[in-house]
Amino acid sequence: MKIYSHENLSLHRPLPYFSYGKMHEPLEIPERMVEFLKAPAALGLEVTTAIDVGITPILAVHDFGYVEFLKHGYDEWMAVEEDLGAQVQTGIFVPYDNPGIGIMAKAAKYQADDSAPISEHSWTSIYWSAQTALNAAEALLNDEKPETERADSHIQLCFSRPPGHHARKSAAGGFCYLNNAAIIAEHLRQKYKKIAIIDTDMHHGQGIQEIFYDRKDVLYTSVHGDPVNFYPAVTGHAFEKGVGEGEGYNINFPMPHGTDEAGFFEYVDKSIEAVTLFDPDIIVHVLGFDVYENDPEARCAVSTEGFKVLAQKMKALNKPLIVLVEGGYYIQKLNDNLQAFLSGLISEDNSNSQLT
Ligand SMILES: [Zn+2]
Repeated sequence: MKIYSHENLSLHRPLPYFSYGKMHEPLEIPERMVEFLKAPAALGLEVTTAIDVGITPILAVHDFGYVEFLKHGYDEWMAVEEDLGAQVQTGIFVPYDNPGIGIMAKAAKYQADDSAPISEHSWTSIYWSAQTALNAAEALLNDEKPETERADSHIQLCFSRPPGHHARKSAAGGFCYLNNAAIIAEHLRQKYKKIAIIDTDMHHGQGIQEIFYDRKDVLYTSVHGDPVNFYPAVTGHAFEKGVGEGEGYNINFPMPHGTDEAGFFEYVDKSIEAVTLFDPDIIVHVLGFDVYENDPEARCAVSTEGFKVLAQKMKALNKPLIVLVEGGYYIQKLNDNLQAFLSGLISEDNSNSQLT
């Protein structure tokens, strides 16, 4: 197994923001990386520093104007004579009938909500988050060994900060800017015919759904909290199944709020069943630790031990696997929960473990 990270993932620091009628302290903060990185160290696992593979795979998924906004938006914001505040954020979303003239209009065009502000070092972290994921994809693309030899690239885990699954083709939101899962899925298509993305983050990954909604080469399946009055609120229902030739290749499993751990795994098993039927060449797992029982975003109750079980289920699919570590905001347990997940990935026992 290989684990990828980069020191630049820790640079992005969002400021407090206003939404749903009150101020919020940011949850997606650099301290998360400090805790996450303790886990491989505790298990004696090496972390590889990602290298730059360029912007082309990013532009294969995201609109050029949007990526330019992420890259230069902060400088343009600060260049405005009037003090607009320390981060790019407007509180309005006008994606259509908006020519994007001036940085305020661009922000309104490309920021779907106030939880994805752009501050001084945001772009550096956003870019390297995508690069970190792309390093795992590159390892698979360059791997000449037959699958039976179980190369290092068979199982890979990448730190994905800021996370990506809410990022749309041309809009940031829900702490996400570039859709790392979609970027690597698209990049892997040059070698692999069928790719499955399994999302077990607490929230529906509406960005991934949007990007692949009309395609049958990338299956998206997501287990998440029922979106009724829960972020992202407007997507994630079971009736969203894809369109055109993509119909049937988007499978949502919204969980009733308050689902217990056994219930969570029932949904995960259904999602795995769908993936098995699809028989992909490779699996991308969007891993959110915000399903953890004490997480401020949790609407279900997965235990620390549960993350080991989740990892074993992913491993038991016996396909090349890239895990992207995305959500998870209960800082005190990120290390333990990631250790549990990693121990499931490295355990020799490849059987589908059950909770005891
Ligand atoms: Zn989440």
